[in-house]
Amino acid sequence: MRFIGNHSTGKMGFAIAMEAAMQGAEVVLVTGPVQLQIQHPNITRVNVVSAQQMFEAALQYFPSCDAAILSAAVADFTPKVVADKKIKEKQASLIVELTPTPDIAQHIGAIKQSHQVVCGFALETHNAKEHAQAKLVKKNFDCIVLNSLSDKGAGFGYDTNKITIIDVHGFSVDYELKKKTEVAKDILFTLATLIEAKHSN
Ligand code: C5P
Repeated sequence: MRFIGNHSTGKMGFAIAMEAAMQGAEVVLVTGPVQLQIQHPNITRVNVVSAQQMFEAALQYFPSCDAAILSAAVADFTPKVVADKKIKEKQASLIVELTPTPDIAQHIGAIKQSHQVVCGFALETHNAKEHAQAKLVKKNFDCIVLNSLSDKGAGFGYDTNKITIIDVHGFSVDYELKKKTEVAKDILFTLATLIEAKHSN
């Protein structure tokens, strides 16, 4: 089993990569710049510094993988021009032009083969389940992990998370607040079930 995961913010993505590796999967971990370290013989870490680089890495590795877990909080826009030296502080105002970044998940969903499974993430503030469900359809995910910033102890920075997983068949499971290492097991269990279902069809 070969997995690709992309992770720009860290703990949740790294926990999934480690859990998948410990369960015996060969993992390609595409990550933005984070402080986190990860060491496991099954994990190949690919470091990127931009959404474009993450996109290119995802396209390179995904075709040889059985599944992709797309947990990176990718910026939706990037500066059109990157300054090559310090911008002088004296100017009265500064206008920065932004262009959209590629939607990695949408591209991965679009090129997904029938044997592959794609799991996306959604962070919603209102009508969370409807928005997550719509995202699952739009990006051709097999399941989507919904987490909320309004739940205490969940989301960025914490060692814990509280998620709901919605799958392509419309099933939705709400999980308790738990350690991200445990959340990783729930996500991978769902993924394994979806992969098994595809293989038995
Ligand atoms: O549309 P939204 O950003 O909320 O979608 C979230 C999902 O899309 C996540 O799985 C995230 O990793 C992915 N995404 C991406 N590339 C982007 C923006 C989001 O892969 N440029």
